[in-house]
Amino acid sequence: MSSATPTGQGESLVEASLASRIGDLDTRSSADAMFALIEELYPLCRSITGNGLRQSLEMISGHSPLQVTEVPTGSKVFDWIIPREWNIRDAYVKNAAGERVIDFQASNLHVLNYSLPVSTTMSLEELRPHLHTLADKPDWIPYRTTYYADDWGFCLSHNDMLALEDGQYEVHIDSSLEAGSLTYGERVLRGQSEQKVLLFAHTCHPSLGNDNLSGMVLLAELANILAQMSLRYTYHFVFAPATIGSITWLSQNEHELDQIKHGLVASVVGDAGDIHYKKTRSERAAIDRAAEHVLKHCGEPYHIMNFSPWGYDERQFCSPGIDLPVGRLTRTPNGEYPEYHTSADDLTIVRPEYLEKSLQAYLQIICCLETDRAYRNLQPNGEPQLGRRGLYRKMGGFQDIAETQLAMLWMLNMSDGQHSLLDIAIRSDMNYIKLHAAATALCDNGLLELIETDEDTGRVTSR
Ligand code: ZN
Repeated sequence: MSSATPTGQGESLVEASLASRIGDLDTRSSADAMFALIEELYPLCRSITGNGLRQSLEMISGHSPLQVTEVPTGSKVFDWIIPREWNIRDAYVKNAAGERVIDFQASNLHVLNYSLPVSTTMSLEELRPHLHTLADKPDWIPYRTTYYADDWGFCLSHNDMLALEDGQYEVHIDSSLEAGSLTYGERVLRGQSEQKVLLFAHTCHPSLGNDNLSGMVLLAELANILAQMSLRYTYHFVFAPATIGSITWLSQNEHELDQIKHGLVASVVGDAGDIHYKKTRSERAAIDRAAEHVLKHCGEPYHIMNFSPWGYDERQFCSPGIDLPVGRLTRTPNGEYPEYHTSADDLTIVRPEYLEKSLQAYLQIICCLETDRAYRNLQPNGEPQLGRRGLYRKMGGFQDIAETQLAMLWMLNMSDGQHSLLDIAIRSDMNYIKLHAAATALCDNGLLELIETDEDTGRVTSR
């Protein structure tokens, strides 16, 4: 780029390259990488604290380097206290013949997550109150936790429970609940601006595929892709346990939260269901408008959900004192697919092709955030003569001329300094990338100029 090139023109070319790079990415190989990482992570027994969580963050670091933070047991984080750290080595129930009729080694879901250590012998009647099953899904093991109540128990399929015979059972849980820490991982990709896009995945569920190994690997791969690009925003990826983890992270980063301009919670993104976007607390944030516009033009069925103070960690980011513009992009929402929180949420539910489609949606929304600018029409009196400047030829195939012309006319008409590219895309109901390409061509021909914003200068202003 020569030094004589006007600033606006140069920046438009950088943006075009980012937009086209996102469009041309080989997401097929990303899908394979994401699924391979899920297969690695699946066997580990994760929880809201402990070595399984730590090892999971280490495994992710092998693909996408994370900075790991440990917050000690007993630390106050807003209204919560970091609990004792839980670790488990083995657990079983043995019958009188010495056979393991419930075996943690076969599935880590068999133990009530956060169970106290136990080593005793008891009758089936005494054991029953500690057994958790799903009568309406009799072949599946439920996923249950007891984080904040001292208890112990086993989860098993209803049919296996019915098959237990009266008699004495040896009950053993080799776990520990001791002072330790809660672990979370972060990756920060510095952009031109200190203003941030926050991307969060919860990391505490044990052997469950869609909820939420899918969200963890999607963010790991997304970070790798964005790390290769020149970025406008700074991207802050957080991998932490659900609820207590996001509350801990918010509490530890409270002084920097005003940098967060947009955010998404990534969970349940690997199943065959339709894609769902859940709006932020205000329901009017830029991320809400970008996500809805992208999904409307993605060619797949989609659903937009209004905000509610229920769901995953968007509840913490959208709590009234925090009130960040953080939405949630999932496929089938939590609780709305039959395998949710059971052993059937396994690696047959999560498929590489659905991870890939979810990743593409994240990339397109990010492309929108990165390139959404306001422009000024430099020839606002009447329509400029587009044909004379060869603009149709530069914009691609002959069959696209009508659409190309319409995209340019929308950009020229609405670029009065009051409307950003996303505003114009929503107003015209045209594909964002096509409008962006039109804006780039118009900038390159001196018909539009970019209006500088805080994100462009790198300055941070309050939201
Ligand atoms: Zn869950």
